[in-house]
Amino acid sequence: MIAPYFTFARYIRENFRTKAFRISVDGFLGCNGKCIYCENSYYRSPEESLEEQIIRLKEFYEQRYKVRDFYLYFQKGTNTAAPAEELKRLYDKGLSLFPFIGLIIGTRPDAVDKKVISMIESYTSTYDVWVEFGLQSTFNETLQRVRRGHTYEDFLGALDLLKETKIKCTVHMILGLPGETGEMMAESVRRLSRLPIQGIKFHHLYVLDGTELSRLYKEGEYTPLEYSRYKEILIDCLENLRSDIVVHRVLGEDRSGHLLAPRWEVSKDEILADIKKTMTESGRFQGRLFP
Ligand code: SF4
Repeated sequence: MIAPYFTFARYIRENFRTKAFRISVDGFLGCNGKCIYCENSYYRSPEESLEEQIIRLKEFYEQRYKVRDFYLYFQKGTNTAAPAEELKRLYDKGLSLFPFIGLIIGTRPDAVDKKVISMIESYTSTYDVWVEFGLQSTFNETLQRVRRGHTYEDFLGALDLLKETKIKCTVHMILGLPGETGEMMAESVRRLSRLPIQGIKFHHLYVLDGTELSRLYKEGEYTPLEYSRYKEILIDCLENLRSDIVVHRVLGEDRSGHLLAPRWEVSKDEILADIKKTMTESGRFQGRLFP
């Protein structure tokens, strides 16, 4: 079934006439953030080197999915948290191991500066380059409540640094943050749709044992979204999203093994199929309600 939203797979197909996967690696940079839902407390440097991570995942995807093209994705932690020269050595090392078609760098809005962005811009002549900002909400009261440690305005400043570069920007949004209503989440999407961003990732908020959020959950102060409510909010967000923004993800995925809630008892594939089916059958699609 064709997705009623602009998937990353479609973006790759239309721009590169291929199918490509992201090789997600840990660049050993960690993160000093204190987000109340984060698994950072479980963080351990990976036992594998960067090279080993890349080779293992590349071989797995090649064998299992017959994929031949890849993006190098620095996902875990804050992947701009070092001086530009050091970061360049890290990115160069990863990119030297395979003819990747693109580079994706996950980071925080308060962890980039002009020098780092200009270094990242140097890769755009060879690669499809994306910077992913963990923003999660455009409401400062929410960002403060979940201790993101930055404001919406910090994000706008970071986005401004990408102006006049060929770097594409993806924004992470979490649906179901404490204190947020469905209307606030849709409003965040409308605000983002008016900005020069090219991608978005939606996650549902899940509770991991040992986090500050798990304490709130156990004390009955936080209730995660039920799947049916998540689906409703997500579809509303997609309908309020500018139609040319690439949707990299519509669901969070916990791999830590510390998940407390929610446990939706449906697989990721079933959820993806259900979202597409619901949207298609009800005539709903990305951008229908924007502007
Ligand atoms: S910025 Fe990301 S990695 Fe850092 S604490 Fe927050 S959620 Fe965790």
